[in-house]
Amino acid sequence: MTYVNNAALELMLGVSRELHPREFVGLLRGEGDRVTEVLVIPASLYGEGFAHVQWVHVPLDKSIIGSVHSHPTRDNRPSKTDLRYFEKTGRIHFIIGYPYKSLADVACYLSDGTTQELKTGE
Ligand SMILES: [Zn+2]
Repeated sequence: MTYVNNAALELMLGVSRELHPREFVGLLRGEGDRVTEVLVIPASLYGEGFAHVQWVHVPLDKSIIGSVHSHPTRDNRPSKTDLRYFEKTGRIHFIIGYPYKSLADVACYLSDGTTQELKTGE
């Protein structure tokens, strides 16, 4: 089970809606199985697709536990490219599918692509 707090959930849904049909990319900050904060990656990188995110420009530290990105379709399953990045970018990964309205549009995966149940919590 993975938890995300309401503020982080609302932020990532809102940014996904705002950037549609471009993809939103971010990093997840938190501890253990709890995501407490979403770091939005600079706007210059948007629209390049998840594969092209230049992680070297992103401040990585131990509080980064995973990644988040949106898909402009209802399909929130990871691509092969997504899976390669999951392995490099922490343990917990969210993919948000259109229409980015609620927790139901957010899929949660571990680095190996296994689906995880996601709940909101403090
Ligand atoms: Zn993807």
